[in-house]
Amino acid sequence: MKKRPRIIQKTKSLLQKEISSICPFCDNEDVDHFHFHHIDENPENNDMLNLLMLCPICHSKITKGDITREDVERKKRDISTNQKDVLLFFQEIAPLVFDLIIFGEQEKDRSINPWVSRLESRYSEISNELRRLAIKDVSIQKGWTVLLDELAKSIDNFVNREVCLYRGLTEDIKDAVEKAKHLKVSIIDPFFASQRAPLTLKKDFAMQLRMLKSLNDRAEMMLNEGKIEELQGKVSEIGHDLLILSMYNTEDFPKAIKGKLYSISREIHLMETKRNNHSFDRQESFRNRLNELSGQLNALAVELPNVTYAAN
Ligand SMILES: [Zn+2]
Repeated sequence: MKKRPRIIQKTKSLLQKEISSICPFCDNEDVDHFHFHHIDENPENNDMLNLLMLCPICHSKITKGDITREDVERKKRDISTNQKDVLLFFQEIAPLVFDLIIFGEQEKDRSINPWVSRLESRYSEISNELRRLAIKDVSIQKGWTVLLDELAKSIDNFVNREVCLYRGLTEDIKDAVEKAKHLKVSIIDPFFASQRAPLTLKKDFAMQLRMLKSLNDRAEMMLNEGKIEELQGKVSEIGHDLLILSMYNTEDFPKAIKGKLYSISREIHLMETKRNNHSFDRQESFRNRLNELSGQLNALAVELPNVTYAAN
């Protein structure tokens, strides 16, 4: 008689995650006693796609024929589609909500134009996106529709507000930012904490570092050619992308490093807003500041294991 090959631990934990630790047929949660069913009834086929984790009672129903093979196959298909949809949903919503928080926390530095109107148009875009996500199957299934709609409404209130000179941007934007933070903590953070390694944060971080280094090397030349605003825009964009990376709740970056990454990236992101002083001084101070921040970021990269940046 042939020996049944064992199901490896990695597959087992993926299968448990696939069903969110709940029996897909009866909602039993006693996951420690669950079985692994071979869908094609070949016990040697331990392919992830051929296995379904479920409670012993439902497993015996399959054996007796009370649950048909067709039912099992349909269930497996629904589960894997749903899992992909959920991941996609979070990959879409996370950067939107992070952006609300990022810009909301820069309200003092962006309280004059063109920054106010750019912030408003970004917020409008986000509000539209949130309304689109609010009516997706994932939102409806999980009951998040109202939450997303309320956030979108609060953003619209901010964008369509009557501007009052005595009341600053801080007060106007507060409600939307608070709702965004609540959404991050209650829904987005727990999701990414439960994901083993779906993101490539470290790789993205290394790439942004390389881009910043290359800009820093070209800064002198760009400034001499009078391209200060182009340079500011590019530097800022890198700062923004780094800020987004720093907000994912995963273990890719240790907490202490995440905090530092946030504050350095914030300074880099805000470099586009430094436009008030003129000519040589302005260029010189921009150049020095860029060099300084770039250095701080490199020092941070050294503290991070597995970021190969220096080798280019
Ligand atoms: Zn069951």
